[in-house]
Amino acid sequence: MTQSVFNFCAGPAMLPASVMAQAKQEFLDWQGQGVSVMEMSHRSAPYIEMAAQAEKDLRDLMSIPDNYKVLFLHGGGRGQFSGVPMNISAANDTADYVLSGQWSQKALEEGQKYLNTQIAADVSVVEGKVFLPTQQQLNLNPDAAFVHYCPNETIEGVEFSYIPETGDVPLVADMSSTILSRPIDVSKFGIIYAGAQKNIGPSGLSVVIVRDDLVGKARKETPAILDYELAVKHDSMYNTPPTYAWYLAGLVFKWLKAQGGLSAIEKVNQHKADTLYRFMDQSDFYRNQVDSTCRSWMNVPFQLADDALNVKFLEQSDAAGLKALKGHRIVGGMRASIYNAMPLAGVEALVSFMADFEKRYG
Ligand code: PMP
Repeated sequence: MTQSVFNFCAGPAMLPASVMAQAKQEFLDWQGQGVSVMEMSHRSAPYIEMAAQAEKDLRDLMSIPDNYKVLFLHGGGRGQFSGVPMNISAANDTADYVLSGQWSQKALEEGQKYLNTQIAADVSVVEGKVFLPTQQQLNLNPDAAFVHYCPNETIEGVEFSYIPETGDVPLVADMSSTILSRPIDVSKFGIIYAGAQKNIGPSGLSVVIVRDDLVGKARKETPAILDYELAVKHDSMYNTPPTYAWYLAGLVFKWLKAQGGLSAIEKVNQHKADTLYRFMDQSDFYRNQVDSTCRSWMNVPFQLADDALNVKFLEQSDAAGLKALKGHRIVGGMRASIYNAMPLAGVEALVSFMADFEKRYG
C-alpha cells in the first residue's frame, strides 16, 4: 500500500495502514455477525475470544512471563499515575521517582497526592546537550515502595538506554511511547504500563503488565476500576472495557507479529531513527539537543537554525503530506514521532523535504 500522507503526530498517532483498512472493512459487520464489534456485548463469546487472543498475542510479542498479569484498563497513561501508587503502596510509604522530562514530572506530581516521594535523579544539560542520569547517578532508597521512571519521554525525545537496577524494590515504567518498539526483558519490572495511543491503538485504553506479587495490595479507597485485583478477577471486564480500542489493539498485535515481532521492528525503528538523526547531525540548519547516548527512537524533536522559519516549515511540510510536525508547546520547534506504524518511506520523505527546505532557506 503506498501512502501519500505521513502522520508524525506524537499521539494519538498513526496506526498501520493495513490495520486501518481491515478495521474499515469489518466496521459494519464483524466476523459475519451483522453488527460492528463496537456494538457487541463484551460478555459475548466472540468478543471474549477476540480479547483473549489479543492478550495472548501481546504476551507472545513481549515474551511476558507467566507470573505477570496483563490488564486492559481505562484511563490512558495518566490513569496509572494514580493507579500505581493506589495499588502498590500505603499512604505513609515513600516512592522514588526518576525525573527525565515532562511525563515523569507529571507522574511525580500525581504520586505526591498518595504517598511520600523522593526524586532519585534528574536530567542534566552539559554544553547544551541533554543527558539522562546514569545508573550510578540514581539515588535510590532501598525501602521505597517502588521506583517510577519513564523510559521514553515523548516531549523531550530522550530515552534510557538501560533498565535501572533497583534490587528488591519494584521498578515501575511508564512505557506509553516506547512499548513494543523493541524487545525488553519484562522480568526486570514490577509494573509496565502504557497509554495505547502510540504503539498500541486508540487512546483511552491503558495496558498494564503487573507482576503477580503486586496484585491484591490495593488501598481500601482505590476506585474499583483502577484496582488490579478486581481487573485480574474479571479478566479486565469488571466494568465495560474500551471494547473497540481493545479490538484495534488486537489487530495491531497481529500486524506486529506479521512484521516478524519485536526484534524485526527493532531493526526498522533503529534504521528510521538513525536516518533522521544522521541527516540532522550533518546539517548546520537543523539541531537536536539530546546527547547521542539517550536519543529517542520514537520521538525526534528538532529546531531550525532560525525560529522565524517555523511557520513556513510547518505550512510547507503539511502541504507536502508530512503532517503534525509541530513540536510540543513546552519545547517549541518541531517533533517527528516515528512509532512502529511509520514506514521507513515516511522518514525518507521527511528527510528529503528537510534537505530541500534547507536548500531554499538555509
Ligand atoms: N506518559 C507518556 C510517556 C505520554 O507520552 C503520555 C501522553 N502523551 C502520557 C503518559 C499520558 O497519556 P494519556 O493522555 O493517555 O493519559
